Amino acid sequence: MGQTLTEKILDDHLVEGELTPGEEIGIEIDQTLTQDTTGTMVWLQFEALGLEDVQTELAAQYCDHQTYQFDFKNTDDHRFLRSAAGTFGAHFSRPGNGICHNVHKENFAAPGKTLLGSDSHTPTPGGLGQLAIGAGGLDIAVAMGGGAYYVEMPEVVNVRLEGELEGWASAKDVILEMLRRLSVKGGVGKVFEYTGPGVESLTVPERTTITNMGTELGATSSIFPTDEQTQDYLDRVGRPEEFVDLSADEDAEYADEIVIDLGELEPLIACPSMPDKVVPVDEVAGERVEQVMIGSCTNGSYEDILPGAKMLKDREVAKHTEMIIAPASKQSAEILARQGWVAELMAAGVNFSEATCGACIGIGHVPASDSVSLRTFNRNFEGRSGIEDDNVYLCSPQVATAAAIAGEIVDPRDLAEELGDLEAPEIELPEKYDGSKADLISPDNAIDDELIKGPNIGDVPLKDPLGDTVGGETILKMDDNITTDHIIPATADILKYRSNIEKLSEFTLSRVDDSFATRAKESPGGVLVAGENYGQGSSREHAALCPMYLGIEAVFAQSFARIHKANLFNFGIVPLAIDEETYAKIEQGDDIEIVDDIGDGVRDGDEEFTCSVNGEWEFTAELDASERERDILAAGGKLSWTKQQATEG
Ligand code: SF4
Repeated sequence: MGQTLTEKILDDHLVEGELTPGEEIGIEIDQTLTQDTTGTMVWLQFEALGLEDVQTELAAQYCDHQTYQFDFKNTDDHRFLRSAAGTFGAHFSRPGNGICHNVHKENFAAPGKTLLGSDSHTPTPGGLGQLAIGAGGLDIAVAMGGGAYYVEMPEVVNVRLEGELEGWASAKDVILEMLRRLSVKGGVGKVFEYTGPGVESLTVPERTTITNMGTELGATSSIFPTDEQTQDYLDRVGRPEEFVDLSADEDAEYADEIVIDLGELEPLIACPSMPDKVVPVDEVAGERVEQVMIGSCTNGSYEDILPGAKMLKDREVAKHTEMIIAPASKQSAEILARQGWVAELMAAGVNFSEATCGACIGIGHVPASDSVSLRTFNRNFEGRSGIEDDNVYLCSPQVATAAAIAGEIVDPRDLAEELGDLEAPEIELPEKYDGSKADLISPDNAIDDELIKGPNIGDVPLKDPLGDTVGGETILKMDDNITTDHIIPATADILKYRSNIEKLSEFTLSRVDDSFATRAKESPGGVLVAGENYGQGSSREHAALCPMYLGIEAVFAQSFARIHKANLFNFGIVPLAIDEETYAKIEQGDDIEIVDDIGDGVRDGDEEFTCSVNGEWEFTAELDASERERDILAAGGKLSWTKQQATEG
């Protein structure tokens, strides 16, 4: 039987296990990617593991999430990251050079290679035929040290694209259509492999918009085959020799098939406050819009800014609307500036930000209260923009720009008809991505050879090995779809403590209950209870590290998001699955004790544990964990486990 493209790449990198869906496999990692909010902890862990040099083919450290250096803490973190990259042998991308996924795509992403990144949108270069997976920081530290990455073998789903995009429909509408059909949970445990005759009409940047937002489906990754478009893109970024011909075998078998006719897609929009609340734009037309933003790792590159620039030529942004462009890479902004488009956009009333994630996580450009913001980003979880009751819609650059012109949500087809001379812009790539490389520092040109730690950079906390008993007060009972943004918000005032866990942990779950951290500290050994899809969103390992620091020992949830569950194992918190009925019956404040000897049970491979609630009633919770994950839990987390392995090995 033939292989899917995903299976071929995994097979090439397999160090442990078999490619059977649901089974744990270990794979070799060729490249790693870290960003500033997760990177400091990664390098502190790399140091704590006693590692000396990066062992992967390539490691790249980006400074993109919080580039505004409000006070010394953030600047210190950036300096620490530069020193870590220099000391251990990674490429360093300076603050303002752009978003990790876009800079990586332009400079390092390579077909057929594996990439592990401490950011949930790491699958972006799947559009180039790279198998890229997001993971927790500790997994990256271990991979950079030459260790394998372990993941559940995903099911591979064939997304067959037919036809070609027409008129105002865009690549963003392809992934919004996937979200409309499958929801934010529809990709859990899956890789989406795009095939079919529609693929060849999509440029690599269009493909990466789709693979980027596969993360919103909860997918492990998304990937396209390579072809002339891939070769063309690699030529333009100046790395033609990296092309490899990659596709699935003709007789490959997929777990499932989804068919999308590109020619039938129309402009779509995700309504507040979930990326899967997708409707045709004309269903929400007429909503007054106060802010429009083009940017993010999804739609912030040259190819995403240019359509808006063309639409705005000789026009102006509506007077009651602010339009901001945050380029995803400085290179994109530089090329657009040289071509004169930045001046045109400024003349139309657009503001330019530096190349950063920024507003995507509520750092700058926070919308006005009770207002609508249209963004080309990938997420619109409530409060993520920096204001709790936000109304953020997600759409393509074309739909966003149409709203900026009209001052309200409008189907661009209707706006075009009204204006008479507005045409759907062609997607164009620059002849060459020939921006300056001044902000990229290679390991050969490193400026530091020892770590520079400022006063806000602390140590990595460790947890004791798992004892016989786990349990305590239900400190918090939460609903479905709790995101990592709920657990540790990524806003500037909080994120500046990312390297100082003692301080950062004070903000744990503060968006759900501002007394949580105090109550958790007062009641060590406490547990959390949640509904479906607990921990969806980012790869932020602080969302496991901080609860661990506050003494949380177990999370009982109806289901867990993949990366967050791995992070819970990595920090020694026991993730236990419960059914709907049990979830409904447990109340906040209940005392939950695991009746069985958990330490032995975890080591012996037990899958079910009896738990007692207030000594009054019992339920069964399930532990779905591989042998390796059980060993990690027993050791008190991955850091202790890896050290143990090194000593024993
Ligand atoms: Fe940055 Fe937002 Fe992309 Fe995350 S989703 S990498 S915060 S732009």
